[in-house]
Amino acid sequence: MSSYTAPLKDMQFVLNELAGLEEVAKLPGYQEATPETVAAILEEASKFAIEVLDPLNYSGDQEGSKWSDGKVTTPKGFKEAYRQYVEAGWPALPFEEAVGGQGLPKLVATAVEEMLTSSNMSFSLCPLLTQGAIHALILCGSDALKKAYLENMVAGRWTGTMNLTEPQAGSDLALVRSRAVPKGDHYLISGQKIFITYGEHDLAENIVHLVLARTPDAPEGVKGISLFVVPKFLLKPDGTPGERNRAKCASIEHKLGIHASPTAVMVFEDAVGYLVGEENKGLAYMFVMMNAARFSVGLEGVSIAERAFQRALAYAKERLQGKDLVQGKTVPIIRHPDVRRMLMLMKSQTEAARALAYVVAASMDVAHKSSSKEEQKRHQAFVDLMIPVVKGWITETGNEVASLGVQVHGGMGFIEETGAAQHLRDARITTIYEGTTGIQAGDLVGRKIAREAGATVKGWISELGRFDLELAKSANPDIQVLRSRLAAGAQAVQECVEFIVGTVTRDPNAAFAGAVPFLKLMGITAGGWQMARAALIAEKKLSKKEGDQSFYSAKIVTARFFADHVLSQAPGLAVTVTQGSAAVMALTDEQFLAA
Ligand SMILES: Cc1cc2nc3c(=O)[nH]c(=O)nc-3n(C[C@H](O)[C@H](O)[C@H](O)COP(=O)(O)OP(=O)(O)OC[C@H]3O[C@@H](n4cnc5c(N)ncnc54)[C@H](O)[C@@H]3O)c2cc1C
Repeated sequence: MSSYTAPLKDMQFVLNELAGLEEVAKLPGYQEATPETVAAILEEASKFAIEVLDPLNYSGDQEGSKWSDGKVTTPKGFKEAYRQYVEAGWPALPFEEAVGGQGLPKLVATAVEEMLTSSNMSFSLCPLLTQGAIHALILCGSDALKKAYLENMVAGRWTGTMNLTEPQAGSDLALVRSRAVPKGDHYLISGQKIFITYGEHDLAENIVHLVLARTPDAPEGVKGISLFVVPKFLLKPDGTPGERNRAKCASIEHKLGIHASPTAVMVFEDAVGYLVGEENKGLAYMFVMMNAARFSVGLEGVSIAERAFQRALAYAKERLQGKDLVQGKTVPIIRHPDVRRMLMLMKSQTEAARALAYVVAASMDVAHKSSSKEEQKRHQAFVDLMIPVVKGWITETGNEVASLGVQVHGGMGFIEETGAAQHLRDARITTIYEGTTGIQAGDLVGRKIAREAGATVKGWISELGRFDLELAKSANPDIQVLRSRLAAGAQAVQECVEFIVGTVTRDPNAAFAGAVPFLKLMGITAGGWQMARAALIAEKKLSKKEGDQSFYSAKIVTARFFADHVLSQAPGLAVTVTQGSAAVMALTDEQFLAA
C-alpha cells in the first residue's frame, strides 16, 4: 500500500503565487509568517503527517473506535499520536497569541490542516471540532468561561465538541428540543444529541461540549436557542478536571467511513452547563463560527482528493495490464489514455480546489486583520460568497475524485486492502455534515445571491472580466483556450444570477431547483479562474527560465485539461439552472412512484 507524500511543491506555489502569502504576512500580527518560517512549518507538519498519522490511517479504519459502558477507546496508536500532536504545539497554530496560540495566518494553518487530514481524516476531526468550540468561546464566551477553558483547549489538553444535532433536528436546528433550566450561576441541561463527533474518547483529560438547548421561556424556533458549555468533568476550584458531569455517551454509531472517529449519541441528564453569551442567541453564535467550520470541511475535500490521487497514481504506474495502443507491448495502465484521463481529472480538480480554498483562506486573513475597513468588508463579502462553494463544490469534487481513485484500481479498488475504498467511504460524509450540499446551495442562492440582488457575485464577475484582459496578452495557445472557457463560465454565472434574482420572489421553487447545479457552476468557474491564474504565472516563469520548469509546464497542461474537461461544462449547467426547474417540480408524489 502506497504511503502519503505531502504535495509541498504545489502547496508552496499556491501559498506564494496564488494566495499571496507575502501580502498576508504584512497584515498586523502576521509578521512571523515569512517564507522561510512557513516553509519550515510545512516541512515539520508533513513529517508528522507522513511518519505519525499516515501509518495509523488504514489500521484505524479497520479497528475503529470502540464503545463500552459509556467509555470510548480510540484505535491503537491514536492516543500516542495525539500526545505527540499536543507536545509539538500543533493545536495552538491557528489561534491568536493572546489566547496562547501561535498567531499564524489562516492561510498557513490551512496548508497544515490539509496535510493532517490527507494523512488521517479520522484523527483530524478531533482538532477540527475543538477549533470550532474554541472559536465559539473566543467570539461569544464570557471572560470567566474563557479563563476557565481556553488555555487548555488551545494547548490541546482538552478537546471540544459541537452538540447541535438531535434526532428530529438535523438541517433544521429550529427544531432543537434539549432543555436548559437556570439554577444559580449555571443551568441544568437535559436532552439527547446524536452524531456528535468525538463526543467521547480517550485522547484528552477533559471534553468541553458546546450544546444548543432551550431555556424554559424561550420563544419557538431559531430565536429561542441558546448555547452552553457542558464539560465532561466539572472543574475543581483550582481549574483542574474534577467530578464527572451528567453528560454521558450512550453509544457510538457504526458508519460507512471515518471509523476511527467516534460519532457519539450523547445523553444529558441535568448536566451542569454554563451559558455562552446571551440567552436565545445560540444559533446566531453558531452562524458566526460556521464560515470556519464549513471551510474546514471543504478543505477535507481537497485532502481526500489529494490522497486518493496519490494512491491511484502509484497503482497506475505499477499495474501491468493491456497493450500500448501504438507499440503493442504490455504496459502499466498509466499508459492507457482512459486511465490518464481519470488521473488528470483527479489531479486537475484537486489542484483547482486547493487553489480556491487557499485563496479564500487568504481573504479570511485580510477580512480579519486588514487595517482598512473597506478592504475588510470587500474580502469578507468574497469569503461569505465563496464559503458555500468551498464547502459544497470541493466536497462533491472530493467524492468524485475518490470514486475515480477506486475506478483506476479496477477490482482492487473495491477490495479494502488497497486503501482506495477507504478514501471513498471517508469522503462520503463531507457532503453531508456541517450542512449538506443542498443546504450550501440554498445558502448560496438565497442568502449570498438573492438577498443582495447578486451584488457580490456581480463584483466577482467583473473581476473575471478584468482578468480576461490579462489573459488576452498571452500568446500561449493553451492559455487562450483557458481564456475562452473561463469567459464562457463567467457568462454562464451571469445568466444564472440574472435568472435567480429575477425568479426568486415570483417562483422560489424554480430559483432553488437549480441551486446545486448553480453551486457546481460557481465551483468550476472559480476553480478555472485559479487554474488560469496559475497557468499565466507558470508561463511567465517558463519564459524567464525561473524555478522548476517541469512543474510549471505541467501546471499549464493541467490547467488546459481542467478547461477542456471540467470548465467546459459551464454552459450546460447554465441550461440546467435556467431551464431545468420546471421538470424538477412537475411530477406528483404518486407519479414518482409509478413503475
Ligand atoms: C459522521 C457524522 C458526524 C457528525 N458530526 C456532528 C457533530 O459533531 N455535531 C453535530 O451537531 N452534528 C453532527 N453531525 C450531524 C450532521 O451535521 C447532520 O447529519 C447534517 O446536518 C444533516 O442533517 P440530517 O442528517 O438530519 O439530514 P436531514 O436534515 O434530514 O436531510 C436529509 C436530506 O434532505 C435535504 N434537506 C433537508 N432540509 C433541506 C432544505 N431546507 N432544503 C433543501 N434540502 C434539504 C438534505 O440536503 C438531505 O439531502 C454528524 C453527522 C454524521 C453522519
